[in-house]
Amino acid sequence: MYRDDAVLIVGAGPVGLTLANDLARRGVPYKIVDSKAGPTEDSKGLAINISSQYGLQLAGLGRSIGREGQSISRLNLHWQGKRYSSINFSWLPFDIQSLITQPQSVTENELLEQLQLAGKGAVAWGEEVVHIEEQENSVLATLKRLDGETYTESYKYLVGCDGKRSLTREHIQPDFSGVDYDMFFVLGDYELSLPYDNNEVQYYIYPDTFFILIPIGQDLWRIVVKYDGELPESKVSSSEISSILQTYLNPEIVLAEPKWISRAPFYNRVASSIQSNRVFIAGDAAHLFSPIGGTGMNTGIQDALNLGWKLAFVHHQMAPESCLNSYNEERQPAIKQAADLSDLSTQLITRTITEHSIIDQLAPEQGNRKIQSRILPYLHSGLAQKIQLANSSDEHDAEPDIGKLSPRVFALLDEGKIDYLQKNSYWCFINLELLHGHEEHLNHFLFELEEDMHIGRVQLVPYCFKSAVQSKSNALVSFPHIEIEKMSCSDDELSLVELVRPDGLTQLLSNQLDAKQVRHLVFGSELFNHPSAVQENDYEVLY
Ligand SMILES: Cc1cc2nc3c(=O)[nH]c(=O)nc-3n(C[C@H](O)[C@H](O)[C@H](O)COP(=O)(O)OP(=O)(O)OC[C@H]3O[C@@H](n4cnc5c(N)ncnc54)[C@H](O)[C@@H]3O)c2cc1C
Repeated sequence: MYRDDAVLIVGAGPVGLTLANDLARRGVPYKIVDSKAGPTEDSKGLAINISSQYGLQLAGLGRSIGREGQSISRLNLHWQGKRYSSINFSWLPFDIQSLITQPQSVTENELLEQLQLAGKGAVAWGEEVVHIEEQENSVLATLKRLDGETYTESYKYLVGCDGKRSLTREHIQPDFSGVDYDMFFVLGDYELSLPYDNNEVQYYIYPDTFFILIPIGQDLWRIVVKYDGELPESKVSSSEISSILQTYLNPEIVLAEPKWISRAPFYNRVASSIQSNRVFIAGDAAHLFSPIGGTGMNTGIQDALNLGWKLAFVHHQMAPESCLNSYNEERQPAIKQAADLSDLSTQLITRTITEHSIIDQLAPEQGNRKIQSRILPYLHSGLAQKIQLANSSDEHDAEPDIGKLSPRVFALLDEGKIDYLQKNSYWCFINLELLHGHEEHLNHFLFELEEDMHIGRVQLVPYCFKSAVQSKSNALVSFPHIEIEKMSCSDDELSLVELVRPDGLTQLLSNQLDAKQVRHLVFGSELFNHPSAVQENDYEVLY
């Protein structure tokens, strides 16, 4: 159904579908279109990293995405046939300690299924956006159906999740130059039995090539092989994969026909701007990464989750429209950071740089336990990414957890685990919507804290406005109001105050209960000050 206050999502790949799910659950009207006739059957991007798994939970999708996927707990690096290093996700102190791999077509189908369950609007397949025009208060989009018929509609905002050749990016006209590596990769999904654990990925690096073996299900493996030179135009052949495995792994290996095979280039590009007033780009439309490290799809999922809650807050008049500018301010540098890391890993693994100091950091020998056990799993899980928040101060940025996914939220999502709270007592300001679907965990969590640890100072305060919390019809907070008791406690008893954004990022961490600071962040900042809609006393903060 058409509504001119709706968001038009262009493209139903993994990024557009993540955004549609997020908006559906936050009660924002949207329409999602895709020029293809139906869902993809391509295997393409496999890995759903740990921060995406948490992000998808925060978007209300629970653990439904990747539920049938292959759990990957370790990445092994072999140099000239010998295991050199290994990244073990089971070192991470979280409940989720593995990546998930599955064909992208499966991930997209799961997202489609969840969208259907949310009951707020399925994908309009076979509809291509052919022209975009921004007006002062709206965006006009011209759409073309498969039968050639065109029509124009007006939307409040337009988000281009329209992939590599994005028309929306052409509208924004950012600089999109970058690096084209002089190599390409051949990749295919094969049913075969290999003598490896099917929850471990193997990277094999040789002076003149590399290949990767990634389990994606029962006896199903993705094999990726790197070749030098330009992407050939000829049809891809399975022998491009089998010949390498026979040379370097085992001459006996004979591959049956692959379930899916393709070639793809290596590139690294980041758009210099990902927004123009009412139009945004996310996912491959905004960035193209080398496939090393599986950054592409995951960075796109983070883009969608950064934008979703802001569109919802603006739609529900809980934030001014200017808060949408923080999308470009926050995500563009974060994407650049991910691109630089992906470029470094690519150069390393393809041996275009050989400086030992860098190699030792990214792929330390077995002896370097600290980097291996603590730093690398964080880097490769996505949890290490820290973004510069649009409205934070230098002092806040110096604090390592600000701008990162909050471990306290993980603690709640991880079925009430309280590991993170053992040393400190927290006042945790969390948007109630984060806890939607986790009510039982929350009760359990509070009970354990009080009973076992004799801490009576944990308090959850809604990081949203009282009116929204109380209104049952408001889809933003479909979770019934939590009884929040005012607990008395003096400032020096309290070791930490935390304010967590709806996308799970820590916005404020303070070792004293500074009510003024919290008030500034909640009401006074650009993000949360909306004079016409919200008065300070509409908000329920308990001190
Ligand atoms: C061969 C191959 C292998 C890959 N392997 C990996 C990997 O191992 N790991 C990884 O992380 N990533 C990998 N990727 C990248 C990954 O597939 C992408 O990062 C991911 O698909 C990006 O999702 P997206 O939603 O941004 O864009 P897409 O998946 O490209 O979706 C864009 C959608 O927009 C639609 N569209 C485009 N223009 C319009 C328009 N004008 N109107 C309406 N609809 C439009 C398209 O039909 C498409 O469905 C691989 C990609 C390829 C091609």
